Amino acid sequence: MAANISSALRKTLLLKVISKPQPSREDVSSVIELTAGKVVEALQAQSMTLYLVEGNQIAFKHIYYSPTLWEDQPGRESEFETKRNQLLELKLPLHTGIVGQVIDNSEPVFFNPAENAEGMHNLSRETGFEVTSMLTVPLRANKTIGAIQVLNKEPFADSSEFTRDDLKLLEEVAEYSAPLFQRMLDPRFQVDDRETAKFIARYTGCPLITQEDEIDIDEKVVEVVGDSVIRREGIFPYKRLSPTSVAALMTNPLDYPRRESFSTTTELHVEEVQVCPASLFDKLVKMHFAESGQAAELEQSSDMSELTEVIGEEFGSGEKTMDDGEFTDEESAPVIQLANRIVEDAYISGASDIHIEPQENDLLVRYRVDGVCLEKLRLPKAVSGALSARLKVMSNLDIAEKRLPQDGRIVFKHFTKKNIDIDLRVAIGPMNFGEKIVMRILDKSKAALPITALGFSEENLQRYRKIIEQPYGMILHCGPTGSGKSMTLFSALREIASPDLNVQTAEDPIEYTIPGINQMQMHRQIGLTFANALRCYLRMDPDVILVGEIRDEETAGIAVEAALTGHLLLSTLHTNDAPSTIARFTDMGIEPFMISASMLVVCAQRLMRRVCKNCRVEYEPTGNEKEILQRALDGWSGPVFSANEDGCPTCGGLGYKGRVGIHELMENNEDLTKAINARAETADLKRIAMRSGMKTLHQDSMLKVKEHITTIIEALSNVPPDMFGLGGGEEQPLEVAASSR
Ligand SMILES: [Zn+2]
Repeated sequence: MAANISSALRKTLLLKVISKPQPSREDVSSVIELTAGKVVEALQAQSMTLYLVEGNQIAFKHIYYSPTLWEDQPGRESEFETKRNQLLELKLPLHTGIVGQVIDNSEPVFFNPAENAEGMHNLSRETGFEVTSMLTVPLRANKTIGAIQVLNKEPFADSSEFTRDDLKLLEEVAEYSAPLFQRMLDPRFQVDDRETAKFIARYTGCPLITQEDEIDIDEKVVEVVGDSVIRREGIFPYKRLSPTSVAALMTNPLDYPRRESFSTTTELHVEEVQVCPASLFDKLVKMHFAESGQAAELEQSSDMSELTEVIGEEFGSGEKTMDDGEFTDEESAPVIQLANRIVEDAYISGASDIHIEPQENDLLVRYRVDGVCLEKLRLPKAVSGALSARLKVMSNLDIAEKRLPQDGRIVFKHFTKKNIDIDLRVAIGPMNFGEKIVMRILDKSKAALPITALGFSEENLQRYRKIIEQPYGMILHCGPTGSGKSMTLFSALREIASPDLNVQTAEDPIEYTIPGINQMQMHRQIGLTFANALRCYLRMDPDVILVGEIRDEETAGIAVEAALTGHLLLSTLHTNDAPSTIARFTDMGIEPFMISASMLVVCAQRLMRRVCKNCRVEYEPTGNEKEILQRALDGWSGPVFSANEDGCPTCGGLGYKGRVGIHELMENNEDLTKAINARAETADLKRIAMRSGMKTLHQDSMLKVKEHITTIIEALSNVPPDMFGLGGGEEQPLEVAASSR
């Protein structure tokens, strides 16, 4: 399985491993494999073995044999395979052979045929092939933990035996890999951030910066990008290379999602990257953002690992337990700090959710980053009660209630001196091993994208822009959760917001903040619902109203009323496509003529993955694929792209990178109004809308394929092809339909 993972992806994984508190067995093997690959490639070695000391034995951890060893004798390949498997099972006592000697003395051994004929002979006997050259170097961290041995240069190599330069190179690889192996073998062993940075720089080939005076910092670009983006993305821009690109410091240059998110927010492309240790990064941020930094200093001084230690001392003894009833200790300093540090750390890691999960023996903390849940911390089980009590206090919940689910909200800036303005939506549920807590991070500084960045086709963009300029009526967006509905609505608001326009929103939760508009958070527990908020807004008479979602009769009724009484009303629904939204409204008891009179447009949407531009593969679709394209795009077919299975460093080996919206704009018109009033079937509404120029979600997705933004597979996995013949007998030719408008 590991062989299928491209080296780029493995590199990315590796760098994730470095920052994990407890690497797993798989992590160890991926680090070993990567190191081995690097050694074999750089030294052009025919064979390589990596040894690690385990207790009082030496274990064979990785063995590489080059195919050139059996090139002319095909039968020997399986012999080598068998031998390799035997060796991997074998353990040598300490002090055995050359490897034992290298580990004991912590000095390299370097053989060449002229000086060590006997040693060569012995090695040939052990390995079963003729050894002509050998290098063995120790793996040294705080002690010697193993060795790397290479045998023979490849027949095609530049020299016939290993040289002094090879020795130097191998020692170098051993030097920067050893601390990492040590960390894998002994979780208590800490790799300091300078070691980590050195390792990352070597593996990625990016220059290493360890002192602030090694670079000239352009204050302007730092200021323009700003504190919160720099902290959140972990990218410190220090030089402008062009109007749209910068040179930056990162602790992990392979973190492409963050580079992408950085360019989306700042419209600056990170063109050059230097690696720096995390401590230097923090220092630079503090130097440049003094006010917020200073206040933060106090808490900042204790990092996560120190804090975990303190927590361990406080709670690890097992004397205090959460079942104690009386004992909560949610006001103890370490617990307060722990709660804050978890939230801050998750925010800085770019996590969307934090999961705090009591297990049988400990308390697990995981973050969801880019959709994937990653383990971050393991704490003593005894801290569970105090931590959940602290989070309940922060969320204004009942700390005595431990048997029923509760949900609340943390306004984080009330609890931190740092410049982090986020809210957290908190859900607590009693599980068999204690209370599980999930916190969704709502980043209020997250800005809505400009409407041109959402992926509207040129035609749809023009139409949509005209519609949102209307003084009144209803604009509805529909699609499942995660289809980007609210992002589009907020981009629309951002586009039309102006000082002479009064905009009021009712949301649950507030996801984006736009300066100059009035946003209200719903609280169902105290009866503040969408319907109540809408009623209140009608009395305030704003120009534009945004309601988070229409899901009941009451809200639907007031929304329609608002749209009919001179307000522009924007909202969302959970319907699959634009035409079926009409039926959803009639199901909620709204009269068809009320719907047709108030509705300006229904926009159905989805988010599809963009194919990675760097590694996509061009091909000419045939058969079924060609037919699907032709049907959707008025007979067009031509070269399109598929995703590269192995990916590349730009997309982290995934073949896809970033997302794009697809849209189905059903604009109201005379024909549609007539049909709605006559209670026409959804399929008929769809046909009528298409006749007046609506492109379906499927058609828009195929347009994105034609424009080389995504792949046919990705498009079809989001939206199936339309059924044109649906209920109407003869198919209506699309060309005729378009011109009859
Ligand atoms: Zn790629």
